[in-house]
Amino acid sequence: KKELLSKLKGKENITLDGRKVNIFANIGNPSDVGSVLTNDAGGIGLFRSEFLYLENEDFPTEEQQFLAYKQVAETMAGKKVIIRTLDIGADKQAEYFHLDKEENPALGYRAIRICLTRTEIFKTQLRALYRAAVFGNISIMFPMITSVEEIKNINKIVAEVKNELEQEGIPYKKEVETGIMIETPAAALVSDELAKEVDFFSVGTNDLTQYTLAIDRQNQKLEPFYNPHHKAILKLIKMAADNAHKEGKWIGICGELGADTSLTEEFLRIGIDELSVSPSMILELRKKVRELKID
Ligand code: PEP
Ligand code: MG
Repeated sequence: KKELLSKLKGKENITLDGRKVNIFANIGNPSDVGSVLTNDAGGIGLFRSEFLYLENEDFPTEEQQFLAYKQVAETMAGKKVIIRTLDIGADKQAEYFHLDKEENPALGYRAIRICLTRTEIFKTQLRALYRAAVFGNISIMFPMITSVEEIKNINKIVAEVKNELEQEGIPYKKEVETGIMIETPAAALVSDELAKEVDFFSVGTNDLTQYTLAIDRQNQKLEPFYNPHHKAILKLIKMAADNAHKEGKWIGICGELGADTSLTEEFLRIGIDELSVSPSMILELRKKVRELKID
């Protein structure tokens, strides 16, 4: 089976009736880039930047981050690399953040909520990202978005960061593609407004399932109830896809569900433009796509 799949390297992700889709990879560490390339991914659809924070005893410096992002961008040699800003809190904890213990961490102080209130942490990461973007095809993606106001606040901080880099004479890329995760029901429900503010969407089905079905994704006991195939999830994905396309924006899926080949046909039907999956699933998914007829 491995041999058969490896024959698909270099082939297009195209259905029998000519529909193309991007198949990208999810990674959590720069050392994963090798497997991204050997499995012939079109790009990186989700680079979880948490590793930098979780591996460290203290906040990673701008230089540390810059070098890590630059290395990945350079190794990917012009292919798209979507780096997600810090998604710490809830299931991902680092001591030195000194976060309070919370009753409902999944509904708590995490991800973009930390970045928008402890802006020095956010700014350091954004500086590193805008600097690294000079060296490759980097896009930036923001997690746990629920509203247009959050995007406006992000944009303000981004503008400050660029202005500071400009003043300091430090090279950075002026226009970087930016997108958001659709991983809260609120984001899907206001995706018509959100689509006007960003360049792309990427659906985080792991959290979208958790928040839509009110089921803690960490709780083993609830596993029989954790059903990402629930119609509510697919409806929200379709809503976000329609709204993205109305504004001429693209939409991908970077949660686990993107790798579920029983849904690939449905995803292509609703117009999903990109599927980002673990590197080991790339060729499997390419095989599936090449067997499908959509229209
Ligand atoms: C998701 O929520 O589906 C996702 C891709 O992000 P994470 O699993 O890192 O929360
Ligand atoms: Mg998530």
